[in-house]
Amino acid sequence: RARMNGRNLHEFYLEGSREIVPEILRIEQKLFRALDNAEFTLVYQPYLNAKTHEPGGMEALLRWKNNELGSVSPGVFIPLLEDTGMIVEVGNFILRTVCQQIAVWQRRGLTVVPVSVNLSPLQFKQLDLPNNILKMTDDTGISPRLLNLEITESAFMEDAEYSRRMLMQLREAGTSVSIDDFGTGYSSLSYLKRFPINHLKIDISFVRDIADPEIEAIVRAIIGLAENLHLKTIAEGVETEEQSFKLRSLGADYLQGYLFSKPVPADEVTRFLSGPIKTGREEA
Ligand code: C2E
Ligand code: MG
Ligand code: MG
Ligand code: MG
Repeated sequence: RARMNGRNLHEFYLEGSREIVPEILRIEQKLFRALDNAEFTLVYQPYLNAKTHEPGGMEALLRWKNNELGSVSPGVFIPLLEDTGMIVEVGNFILRTVCQQIAVWQRRGLTVVPVSVNLSPLQFKQLDLPNNILKMTDDTGISPRLLNLEITESAFMEDAEYSRRMLMQLREAGTSVSIDDFGTGYSSLSYLKRFPINHLKIDISFVRDIADPEIEAIVRAIIGLAENLHLKTIAEGVETEEQSFKLRSLGADYLQGYLFSKPVPADEVTRFLSGPIKTGREEA
């Protein structure tokens, strides 16, 4: 049962345990049917302006609940979706669902902030991605400007020229792009100047250890870099008032984390679409 919950798949590979392989195969079998069985849902977590606490946008995060396995952590099933190639089909489902959801919120009269969708490296390799996005936004009648894509640096590693062209097409389509988990990848920084990018997401590991002066120096450098390149910064995983205060004083533009809101189902999003978000752990 939910034995793998909250743990990363790679930890299991590293452990080298022989019991793990059948466990993974069992999960994979269920995963193959998850889309058809409507076992995937999306939750949404806002990020807010560090100064005004007005919502700046929200991130869609995938959840999988299976009858037998229970809730499986994305740290486990996302790598499996990638390894099996299923992430492309599931990724299209996620994009379509987000577009439809934005349309629903708009019909209810809500002022919708941009929604960020995590894009796996394999999705980024699909040549028809920009056209797919335009088709989905067109079908649902929403503006592509309400879509943001979160991509990790690892997606750029193989072919810089391809990546630059793909990002240009996405920008032409009207979607914005964030670099997720910034500072944890291995690629050169020069792409930041050459690629059309809108935001850097400061990785949760830096936020967690921001009280460490050397980590603070790294965060200060990331924010300075972003300012000079005219990119916005979003700090992820903010859990305490101390972290929030420090990040704001360092000049982070947006904050995201359990301190403000956990990821919530679509019908609870109205809570943060209608004004400044209060801090507090009551919903964590
Ligand atoms: P990510 O995109 O970097 O997402 C941030 C993760 O941090 C999310 O975990 C979120 O729930 C969690 N988080 C947010 N605030 C806090 C906080 O204050 N403290 C802590 N400790 N954690 C916080 P989640 O939902 O388990 O997702 C993990 C990863 O799985 C994501 O990292 C992303 O790489 C991947 N993922 C999730 N949904 C999708 C999706 O729809 N598509 C793709 N391709 N990947 C996804
Ligand atoms: Mg993300
Ligand atoms: Mg991240
Ligand atoms: Mg991550």
